[in-house]
Amino acid sequence: MIRDQYTFINPVELYNDIEPSAQHQQEPGLDAELSPRADLGEKTYRGTGRLTGRKALITGADSGIGAAIAIAYAREGADVALSYLPEEQADADRIATLVRDAGRTAVLLPGDIRDHTFAEKLVEDAARGLGGLDILVNNAGKQVWNDDLEALTVEQFESTFTTNVFAMFWISKAALKHLVPGATIINTTSVQAYKPAGILVDYASTKATINAFTKALAEQLAPKGIRVNAVAPGPIWTPLQVTDGQPQEKIESFGAETALGRMGQPAELAPAYVFLASAESSYVVGETINVNGGMPTP
Ligand code: NAD
Ligand code: MG
Repeated sequence: MIRDQYTFINPVELYNDIEPSAQHQQEPGLDAELSPRADLGEKTYRGTGRLTGRKALITGADSGIGAAIAIAYAREGADVALSYLPEEQADADRIATLVRDAGRTAVLLPGDIRDHTFAEKLVEDAARGLGGLDILVNNAGKQVWNDDLEALTVEQFESTFTTNVFAMFWISKAALKHLVPGATIINTTSVQAYKPAGILVDYASTKATINAFTKALAEQLAPKGIRVNAVAPGPIWTPLQVTDGQPQEKIESFGAETALGRMGQPAELAPAYVFLASAESSYVVGETINVNGGMPTP
């Protein structure tokens, strides 16, 4: 291993070899077709037993941030159920192999979480496959840019809200019967919740909703010993960004607005999700960890 996440390194220069230019894929896109490839921590994430014996369901676990979380969780000793869309089987198979290489169980659960019935079945299948459930990461998301409200279709608005908000609600609700004291729910929100872009009216609105949902549910579940928190990524190199997440002419300067002056990689998100899942964060409730390269948020 050349380096791991503990190696002393200049964060400005880290990843200066990953400089993508404009490219496009159909939704939901594949990590396998990103050029250059994103860093999911395959070669760098080193586990130290922080999630030994834990059982995690991660949505959107085939690629991007969710895949980096799956790799990290497995190397920290957790068994992992991976939720993703059927079109993403190739990406999911690769991540499942990495989970198994870490000596952990991978449960593969393809399907569309916009379907209420599937979303509930997903949780049951995950709990059955893992023999319980004590970490839920709601990370799947839809982001399609649109700069004209009159052209923003009701179908897109609904689909963005169903994927990002309703599915999180259905999956969290179904998970409750399995979650024991000590269990954690972690939601993926975004810097867009605080700094909404004019081209992401629907998406940014879902992320602000996720923030409020996280804090309200955290207050409700804390007395039961279940902690709910969120992670708010900034600009991260993932398939979301090349499947109309933003106009392609913006890819080359993606992340330039951050204090570090670069986009982030999915591998840089995983440690925040490990911390919030582990009992290390036992007194952290209703919090949002911003991992955004330096974009001050309220
Ligand atoms: P990604 O494309 O790798 O992951 C998103 C995943 O969502 C897909 O892999 C897919 O499996 C899943 N998904 C989408 N629609 C689904 C559906 N209907 N049914 C089942 N699964 C579905 O991109 P990512 O950037 O890693 O996104 C992960 C999360 O991070 C999202 O919630 C996104 O909003 C959030 N986020 C990303 C960025 C960024 O810059 N990439 C910034 C802030 C927040
Ligand atoms: Mg994907």
